Amino acid sequence: MSERFCYRCGISESEGGPLIEGLCQVCYRKENPVLLIESEISTELCQNCGSYRKRGVWVDPSSYELEELIFEVADSALIEAMEDSLSGVVREYEVVPAEEIEGIESLPVGRAVIAFQPVDWHIEYFPAIITYEVRVKARTHELQMELHNERKHVTVYVRQTVCPRCQKFLGGYFEAILQVRAEDRPLTEEERKVIGKLVEEKVDEIMRKDRMGFIQDTIEKEEGLDFYMGSTSSARKLAQAIKERFGGTISEAYELVGVDRQTSREVYRTSVSVRIPKFQKGDIVADKRGNVYEVKKVDGKGLRIKNLSTHREEHRDWKTVKREGIEIVEHERSEAMVTSITPKEVQLMDMETYETYELEKPGISLREGEIYSMIEVNGKRYFLSKKE
Ligand SMILES: [Zn+2]
Ligand SMILES: [Zn+2]
Repeated sequence: MSERFCYRCGISESEGGPLIEGLCQVCYRKENPVLLIESEISTELCQNCGSYRKRGVWVDPSSYELEELIFEVADSALIEAMEDSLSGVVREYEVVPAEEIEGIESLPVGRAVIAFQPVDWHIEYFPAIITYEVRVKARTHELQMELHNERKHVTVYVRQTVCPRCQKFLGGYFEAILQVRAEDRPLTEEERKVIGKLVEEKVDEIMRKDRMGFIQDTIEKEEGLDFYMGSTSSARKLAQAIKERFGGTISEAYELVGVDRQTSREVYRTSVSVRIPKFQKGDIVADKRGNVYEVKKVDGKGLRIKNLSTHREEHRDWKTVKREGIEIVEHERSEAMVTSITPKEVQLMDMETYETYELEKPGISLREGEIYSMIEVNGKRYFLSKKE
């Protein structure tokens, strides 16, 4: 059998082989490099929100600390460029820490490991410039005795831009209005505070998944609050969160605001309204049978109320509130002192008019001399609470 020689450098197969596609081991690796990355690549980050493009999609960074952020953006662009530039023979790759790649001496055919580390950088101003040393080891042929072992310097330029979301945000864009109202009354200061805080927390959560979920503007109105939202789904989620906290109803309306010049499709703006119940802690309410209650707590599930005849606390879900016809009732407040107690009755004296009157003994323990807040509904008086 005659000896074969490398067609590129002329070395004999017995010295430089086995030959692969007519090439010696060294020439095969040289002729078939795996790392084809450009030596300079460019990427962008949003100067307003720190987001950057990953495979064409704008994503939020994991760090907002400027130095970490710049490296995160540059690393990501570098990995993407490496991925795209690996020769087609590499079917699988893994990024490993720079100190680990040295020790890797064997790989299955079609597999690569890559490592990179910054070796020089200027990140005090934009464009930030980071030069990396990139290393790749790979096996692309089964006759290969040694792995491809390539290294290259790649410089990444990180420039500033404004992402499409922030362009919209900064341009005053909004897609939906979330209106928060209360039934039959304006929102109270306390409710405005609680809703403001709830909305803030919820938006933070929503923005992690929906980058358009921002609040463009908040308008304080006499009757309630209007939130101008970047996305309709965000407005809906907030309405749901408010309803869960306070109860109430949600409704939606659409308004034609114009026609998109590019798609000539009609553009609608959604108004999502959440109307929280009129009831508030401290309200005096009565059901249709005439039972009188003090509202102790209002939430998404219903009302916690104290029956002023039995002085027991009860719970009504919102359906039952409706069915029992529970409504706020007119009442008068007064204060009275317990002047005497008999087995069935209590005598009281009104603290303002000194008028005395008797009531059936209530379901609470009383002592002579104590002063109580009293409520009068439809001519009937009830003990509300002891004056401290
Ligand atoms: Zn050769
Ligand atoms: Zn942005």
